Amino acid sequence: MSTVAIHPSVDGGVKKGQSGFGGGTLRCLCKSDPVEVRVQSNVAHNHVCGCTKCWKPAGAAFAMIGVAPRDKIEVTQHAEKLQVVDPKAVIQRYACKGCGAHMYCRIENKDHAFYGLDFIHVELSPESGWEEPRFAAFVSSIIEGGGAVPDQMAGVRARLTELGLAPYDCLNPPLMDALATQCAKLSGVLK
Ligand SMILES: [Zn+2]
Ligand SMILES: [Zn+2]
Repeated sequence: MSTVAIHPSVDGGVKKGQSGFGGGTLRCLCKSDPVEVRVQSNVAHNHVCGCTKCWKPAGAAFAMIGVAPRDKIEVTQHAEKLQVVDPKAVIQRYACKGCGAHMYCRIENKDHAFYGLDFIHVELSPESGWEEPRFAAFVSSIIEGGGAVPDQMAGVRARLTELGLAPYDCLNPPLMDALATQCAKLSGVLK
């Protein structure tokens, strides 16, 4: 049995989303003047992520992150509190200067396989019905992030499997295939 908390949204069991769910409003953790982001779409490819870049709630070893079309995402309150965590990164993570929550993450490189999709953390929304997380990405990276020590990893992977979150040490096969397909198109290997 793993003693590592995966993420508050899944530690009590993964709750299925609702088909036809149309989106909601993400709100940062600031007690006053929270940043609000309206999302007029469900998420896709929702998953828990162990990488060191994704924003995680306090005490969680993993982040939970999904994608939605960038034209369905709009900052509706306190855009002035947002700043990009690392302007040089491929993914521009817009974080609240007050509480640190990442409100949306955007790729500006039009050649990137995931261009047009923003990454969001749906636990920041009070609405329920978002597509549930379906796999675990970059599991080994939680060692680097301080979320687990190596001896705990077998238990972490067993727990993820028990939750129905297949553990991968990169993204899942469909997303890795999408990245490789785009690289093959850009290099001319794939016509
Ligand atoms: Zn905030
Ligand atoms: Zn990540």
